Amino acid sequence: MMMLGDTIAAISTPRGKGGVALLRVSGPRAVEICERVFLPASGKGLSEVPARTSVYGAILGNGVDGVRETVDDGLATVFREPASFTGEDTVEICCHGGILLTETVLTSLISAGARAAEAGEFTRRAFVNGKMGLSSAEALGNLLEAQTHEQMRLAHAGTNGKLEEACREIYETLRDVLASIYVKIDYPDEDLADMSRAEIDAALGGCEEKLKALCATYRTGHAIAEGISTVICGRPNVGKSSLYNRIVGRDAAIVTAVEGTTRDVLCETAALGRVTLRLFDTAGLHDTADPVEQIGIARAREALDRAELVLAVFDGSRQPDDEELALIEELREHAGTVIAVINKSDLGEAAADFYRSKFAHAVTLSAERGEGMDALTDLTETLFVRGDIDVRRDVVLSNARQNGAALAALEAVGSARGALAAGLPIELCCSDAECAMEAIAQLDGRSISEDIVAQIFSHFCVGK
Ligand code: GDP
Repeated sequence: MMMLGDTIAAISTPRGKGGVALLRVSGPRAVEICERVFLPASGKGLSEVPARTSVYGAILGNGVDGVRETVDDGLATVFREPASFTGEDTVEICCHGGILLTETVLTSLISAGARAAEAGEFTRRAFVNGKMGLSSAEALGNLLEAQTHEQMRLAHAGTNGKLEEACREIYETLRDVLASIYVKIDYPDEDLADMSRAEIDAALGGCEEKLKALCATYRTGHAIAEGISTVICGRPNVGKSSLYNRIVGRDAAIVTAVEGTTRDVLCETAALGRVTLRLFDTAGLHDTADPVEQIGIARAREALDRAELVLAVFDGSRQPDDEELALIEELREHAGTVIAVINKSDLGEAAADFYRSKFAHAVTLSAERGEGMDALTDLTETLFVRGDIDVRRDVVLSNARQNGAALAALEAVGSARGALAAGLPIELCCSDAECAMEAIAQLDGRSISEDIVAQIFSHFCVGK
């Protein structure tokens, strides 16, 4: 069970052979525990080492028969609370990166009194100790998971605490509004310098604008951080796998000239410009007696129905067949965004105008030659990310949790303003303002349920 107050230890670098590995120890007994495992070459104890200083020394472990012996030489860096990542006393031990070696050092730390850390426990301690807000911690998790450059930029910017800062401003304005109203209710006869009705409305209006601006970033944040679920569909041999490989950038799907070779649903994360695609390459949607193919097709249909983006591939060099005409009709009803990819432009564009007339969004390209891919990238960016948002600089909501809380706050502020506009007594907007404060507190993590916190940190790896 997660407990603050004890001292935790973990190997923070990935398991495997490497030049160096890092073990982290955090908690009130970190220095004392590490003194039993790390002997500085200077002969002084670790407790005498100044904060944020690395020292060279011997690392002790239990050898065969449990005999204590020097297992490696390395560096130890001491951090004193609160000036550490977790906000607690922390020691980082750097040794050589051997699997048995790092496990031996970890065992040694545990026998000296540390507890093996759970996944995400260091970052969770940083959050609990006020070293970072929840959205910064989420951003840090995203930084570790980032698969595209734009995701990496967004995640890195998210660790700077700017979203928490924006939340704090809104929260404090709401708090001031509430305080002013409550003072008026509690001391009606006093001539206190409280806010007028117009000032309260202006303050709430300011919060509403800020929240609207925040919520308006989520579409872009979602497209970059969470990714757009994307299905490539179309008749066999129109070039779906070729397009898939062109986007993913390597030969991930088998491309052959034999119909029906793509039987399974592959999923991969890829960047199309700034947009992250969670890309499914699905079996061709066509009738088949092959039971294995039938399963693939059923999965393809399911993925297609749920996709946020459908890349409907057609061979633009020939006229559509009946199944393609049916697919066009079916896609009219699709809830997501559909882009017609009119492929094989190198063979001619006999049917290109027909497809363009059928879809709101269409691009002509040659997946095989890579010609026209820029047009697909530009169109996808236009549809899913805002060109005016610079993720390195702007505050961007990047997950559904943050967006849900911001929307709840926006709705509550709107409702508080509605009460004012309707001429209701001023105290009637208090509960809405309180709801808005609560939603903001959930957004930046100052008040959030233990379950949600546990859920967020469970995605981290051990040692982070
Ligand atoms: P899928 O069955 O829809 O996944 O289609 P594939 O990507 O496997 O492609 C089927 C055939 O069409 C292969 O022989 C490809 O080389 C070819 N093909 C794909 N895209 C193009 C293209 O843009 N131009 C030409 N000329 N051939 C293509």
